Amino acid sequence: MDAQYDAVIVGAGFGGMGAAIQLRRLGYRDLLILDREDDLGGTWHVNRYPGLAVDIPSSTYSYSFEPNPYWSRLFAPGAELKKYAEHVADKYGLRASMRFGTVVTGATWDGSSWRVSIEGGETVTAKYLLTATGFLSQPKMPDIEGIEKFAGKVIHTTKWDDSYDLAGKRAAVIGTGATAVQLIPEIAKVAAELTVYQRTPIWVSPKPDYAVPKPLQQAFAKLPLVQRAVRMAGSSILELMMISGVVQYRQFRGANRIAERWCRAHLYRQVRDPQLRRKLTPDYSFGCKRPTFSNDYFPSFTRPHVHLETNSIERIDETGIVTADGKRTEIDTLVLATGFNLWDTNFPAIEIIGRDGKNLGKWWRDNRFQAYEGVTVPGFPNLVSLNSPYSYSGLSYFTTIECQMKHLDRLFKGMRARGSDVFEVTQRANDEFLDRMKHKVGHSVFALGQCATANSYYFNQHGEATLLRPTSTISAHREAARFPLEDYSFARAV
Ligand code: NAP
Repeated sequence: MDAQYDAVIVGAGFGGMGAAIQLRRLGYRDLLILDREDDLGGTWHVNRYPGLAVDIPSSTYSYSFEPNPYWSRLFAPGAELKKYAEHVADKYGLRASMRFGTVVTGATWDGSSWRVSIEGGETVTAKYLLTATGFLSQPKMPDIEGIEKFAGKVIHTTKWDDSYDLAGKRAAVIGTGATAVQLIPEIAKVAAELTVYQRTPIWVSPKPDYAVPKPLQQAFAKLPLVQRAVRMAGSSILELMMISGVVQYRQFRGANRIAERWCRAHLYRQVRDPQLRRKLTPDYSFGCKRPTFSNDYFPSFTRPHVHLETNSIERIDETGIVTADGKRTEIDTLVLATGFNLWDTNFPAIEIIGRDGKNLGKWWRDNRFQAYEGVTVPGFPNLVSLNSPYSYSGLSYFTTIECQMKHLDRLFKGMRARGSDVFEVTQRANDEFLDRMKHKVGHSVFALGQCATANSYYFNQHGEATLLRPTSTISAHREAARFPLEDYSFARAV
């Protein structure tokens, strides 16, 4: 029986939309884009907490083929990203292919197509399955004794309750990652008391954020080449940071030390109390975990009603939090800025059963986390897994998305030129790619830096840094456009 769709794409965020645009360019019309949320935009639909903004310059954090001249700031607020996602969906005619509030539970390869199971019992079939479920999409709830007994308001940052007023409340924030860094100054503005529970400090550098004046926005709109030049400059700086700070740590250790000094100086300028500075200073190498930018995070802790707690949380009861030193803090509101679970629940986000009953999640866990060029896996024909180990390339997620679009372009054109409609990466190509990535990780900050105390989600449960692709983005783009087609086997479905 023929599949109902050319392709099912799971996820209507920027990754899923990029894949859909590429498939359309390749001539596939019958697409179904499924998303568990009630609207498109992925991360930028789900995250709505106060202070949300992109932490990569906006001219770089967008599709290169769809520049937005109207970003209001160098680091645009989250709501503008959501609007941009809506614009892209409308302009490229993707909305009609999208179905929301649809939870995909699993997908099985039946020998010629993918059978995609949807919560509630429905099944759809597609020739190709593309998973674009994101890296940071499964919220992590902390496993703290008694948390379920707390009688006040509990909010995870991915489920912000706009109707809840924090004004005058005694609030607690658990976590000091990039999300908390944006959120804490906003809560500090309104809460009566704010206690921040920090387990691991974060490297924070000054944020060179500016409003983009209207005349400049108009100039970008009239002269796209100017904006392209700005994008290129931004991408080059990010690339330099990635190469020197992460990928080629062996050669550029000095660059990390400079970055650390830069962040320490920022802290020194903003916080005069040496004890508070000590608590806010990381003891792991810059780059082991995602650093961030902020001009108002550190000063928040100098306000009399904001307290930094570094003793570990022992338990939570009906009305407060108790730390290991026995101190109890009464609170009304518990904000969980505890991030995301990548390695237990995300790789992959749905159950995927390939050829001969091979279970992708089990295979990754029994073997190593791996995927050829971060997109395809042997034993899984016609599957493109966009959020795979070693897929995240560079600092802006759009670099990854556009590399993957190039890979799709070459793969599908190569397949069709051979009169085929089924592709599968070979075991040999996958193994060679994995060996190469493992070797390259050996040069990176993850292997050579002091990362033991970073608690970084870049590392999986086996202590391997298998999230980021440890190469330059130039090399990632080149390989996406030129990988040997012999790395795949092609066939015609029976
Ligand atoms: P995160 O970086 O994983 O931070 C989670 C925080 O919660 C960490 O400080 C963690 O401490 C703490 N935590 C988790 N479980 C805990 C527990 N049981 N007890 C105490 N503390 C606990 O998550 P995030 O801040 O949401 O950021 C995730 C990523 O999203 C960022 O790295 C960034 O890539 C992205 N992001 C981007 C933007 C943007 O572009 N605008 C904004 C925000 C986030 P440990 O470190 O000790 O585990």
